[in-house]
Amino acid sequence: MSIESNIKKIKDEIASICNDCGRNPEDVNLMAVTKTVDVDAVLEAIEAGITDVGENKPQELARKYEVIGDKVNWHLIGTLQTNKVKYIIDKVTMIHSLDREALCEEIQKRAEKIDRVIDCLVQVNISKEETKHGLYKDDVVEFIKMVSEKYKNIRIRGLMTMAPFVDDEEVIESVFKGLKDLSLEVESLGLENVYMNTLSMGMSHDYHIAIKNGATIVRVGTAIFGPRNYNN
Ligand SMILES: *Cc1c(COP(=O)(O)O)cnc(C)c1O
Repeated sequence: MSIESNIKKIKDEIASICNDCGRNPEDVNLMAVTKTVDVDAVLEAIEAGITDVGENKPQELARKYEVIGDKVNWHLIGTLQTNKVKYIIDKVTMIHSLDREALCEEIQKRAEKIDRVIDCLVQVNISKEETKHGLYKDDVVEFIKMVSEKYKNIRIRGLMTMAPFVDDEEVIESVFKGLKDLSLEVESLGLENVYMNTLSMGMSHDYHIAIKNGATIVRVGTAIFGPRNYNN
């Protein structure tokens, strides 16, 4: 299967899922996760209609950005160390992994310097797996209030999560539902500079469940590019 035909197949599937659950397919953005994928393959995906790509390593994002530039929107989807913010601050459309105040401080400092407001999602560890990053659900409201009050160059656009890697679809669904409910709760507070219109959830194996539960961005790698080769 080619990258182009994979993308077409996934887009058709997204349209059909949306049709089944009464959503508009245009409200679900298919993001291509391009970690470990070479530049030629990323360009092929862009040719096939991909408008947004996600990388989890700041330097890899910066390296590909040098070649591809603003032909596509760049998202940082992985854990972000404060000392790596400088590599991506002038390149990203959105950071999906805001999860602690030290990171807010660094983003604020760097964003202010280049006079930009950075769109960010708060990463939530709904399932409370110890191996996963992100804030616990109970800490999210306080965290977002704090960002809203203190960090003017950070604009919260919504939430991001990863479901546990299990076969039980009910478990996965409860995680995505949990994120959606939390998003509505935050939205109801009407905080300044906070716009809860983005839910980044769902990957190759569970995006169908995420869309039914309100995902607006699905992050898909393997189903577009095939299995990753980490030895590249
Ligand atoms: C790798 C990755 C994905 C994509 O996973 P696939 O199973 O390859 O679709 C999505 N989100 C994050 C945060 C990732 O690191």
